[in-house]
Amino acid sequence: MTRWIEHAAIVLAGLACALLFLLLLRLLTPAREALCRGPARQWYHSLLPWHWFHSPRCDYDLSGSIPDAAGQVICPECGTRQVRSTRRRRPARWRTGRVALVLLLIALPCWKVRWIRSGNWAPYAPTSILLTLEESFPGYIPWTVCDELLSREPGMSQVSRAWLARVAVSELASDEISHNSAWASDVLYAAAPSSIPALEVALRSEDFQQRMLAAMVLMRLADPTLSTRYHLRSAQSIDVDYSPPDNLYSVAVEGLADNSIDWTTGVYGTDADLAFPYLLRNAEHATPELSAGLDSHDTQQKLLCAAIAAMSHHSTLRDRGIEYLCRSLGDDDETENAVFAYQSLWRTGDVVLPQLEATIAAEPNESTQRARTALLLIYRLRGTAITKAESLRLYTISAHNDDPNHLVGSWLIRLLPPLAKGQE
Ligand SMILES: [Zn+2]
Repeated sequence: MTRWIEHAAIVLAGLACALLFLLLLRLLTPAREALCRGPARQWYHSLLPWHWFHSPRCDYDLSGSIPDAAGQVICPECGTRQVRSTRRRRPARWRTGRVALVLLLIALPCWKVRWIRSGNWAPYAPTSILLTLEESFPGYIPWTVCDELLSREPGMSQVSRAWLARVAVSELASDEISHNSAWASDVLYAAAPSSIPALEVALRSEDFQQRMLAAMVLMRLADPTLSTRYHLRSAQSIDVDYSPPDNLYSVAVEGLADNSIDWTTGVYGTDADLAFPYLLRNAEHATPELSAGLDSHDTQQKLLCAAIAAMSHHSTLRDRGIEYLCRSLGDDDETENAVFAYQSLWRTGDVVLPQLEATIAAEPNESTQRARTALLLIYRLRGTAITKAESLRLYTISAHNDDPNHLVGSWLIRLLPPLAKGQE
């Protein structure tokens, strides 16, 4: 297609040259007086694009006509009554020069189609033009333009920054365009603190993706360590000393559920990647949200809320969290939840022992995965030495013949913070 457009440019330029040649030939003929002006036209006719290129003049030669008493002649061609023109000109209905100019103006962008498509013109365009294009055709603008806007952001005026934030927030929403939300997230993060008001409005959005991605940017602003944990495009963390509103916690807990915000969204990670460590550090501020999450029907959300409540030693939710983690040690349809629960309970520490003991007391014959795993964890937490054979008998939650604490599985296990010194 690109090659065809370039070929079209050659054809258009050739036509323009031919017209200019005809214009030159006409200029060689002598100009004449007394050519008919044609019927009078209303002023608005000159606004019609057709008349920019085609003159309504009649051009009949009136030099032989005899004027009447009023000094006027009647054109035998168009019947117009007029004073004979004394202006010398050449008859021409088509405005050849203008037509050639337009053909050349169309040919030029056709010839430079690759340069236009690649967006290499972006560094030469004013910011307002780039913003208008990004706002009008989101997803169809070359990446060079998006990157140019991102790089210009630090030097923008307040008006342009607010405009850019507005454009970026709208691109956080779910749409047919891929990866534009990743660019929007980067822009909004880099534009902080001026982008924060727009992001806080987006926290209340009806669009789930928009709400969640806004929350992910705000979580990074509230907790700069989150930016260094993940390999983000804008890796440098921005220190804005930001205190988020309470509804950030409810959106963060919402992000712990099994949902569509994942790597295919084009952003740097899943929503749980950011929400889990963020809530772990701010668990006491999110008590009602975590409490609701512990009653959730979404098993992923419930498990992650339980781990946060337990590992943060939450003042009111800790025991509920430990209780659900103990239940998750059992054999069920969920993948890796038992290993996750084991590692979470291990990181919570000795306070989990009473509930683990209650678990094995309910199943004294150790016939289930839950009872065996609970016993293994009790031995490990108390530092009880057990034989290799006993360890293998109790370790049934994974096919790997290793300590469950050192098992690194899917993203779920990688959510957990590194083991503290003395826990290894
Ligand atoms: Zn005429």
